[in-house]
Amino acid sequence: MRIVEIFRSIQGEGTQAGRPCTFVRLAGCNLRCAWCDTPCGQDVAGGDERALPDVVAAALAGGTPLLCVTGGEPLLQPGCPELVGALLAAGRDVQVFTNGSLPLDVLPAAASRVVDVKSPWAHRQDLPDGVLPPDTPPPHFRTANLAALGPRDEVKFVVRDRREFDWAAAWAGSSGLLDRAGTVWIGAAWGLLDPARVADWILASRLPLRLGLQWHKILWGAGTRR
Ligand code: SF4
Repeated sequence: MRIVEIFRSIQGEGTQAGRPCTFVRLAGCNLRCAWCDTPCGQDVAGGDERALPDVVAAALAGGTPLLCVTGGEPLLQPGCPELVGALLAAGRDVQVFTNGSLPLDVLPAAASRVVDVKSPWAHRQDLPDGVLPPDTPPPHFRTANLAALGPRDEVKFVVRDRREFDWAAAWAGSSGLLDRAGTVWIGAAWGLLDPARVADWILASRLPLRLGLQWHKILWGAGTRR
């Protein structure tokens, strides 16, 4: 497997935010989001080639009950499900952060999937209003993954403006996502939108959405790698 880094920190996002966590970042991503905060994970040839037992041992050596397999897009690497299975077999809670473009059902059912759904404007922010209809589906999300989501899974949207928020709220409702996933988050793109505005929009929507924050950036700054 190609591994960019393995490190201990505080989980900064989602329902497990605040828990000490060991992160395993796999190399390579099939998307190029405009606000990507982990470009170090995009290169499929990045990081170091490491054998699965070595990766498992290094991850468990972190000593945290919670482990997070992330990227890049970790499901690009065929060994990802086996890695997740080995970490679960060691008795740890395991999250997999993914962009939802690849099949989720390859992962063990005991893992928690945290799916980051990209808006139609994620790569095309320069398009003026009206060019893409507000009911445009997420172009990179694998629709069949909706059926694979369950109560232990989380879905998050990162938005930069009111247009992207309205789209996320509408699609979460029309797709059935709000009924399937355990938690649906909407967060503000770091440095591009005040999270307080997203909080106001969530309250006004009266939908069962949660405000997503990135505690690691609040604690240590956006440039931190921990
Ligand atoms: S899917 Fe994630 S890692 Fe890949 S480009 Fe987008 S934000 Fe970056």
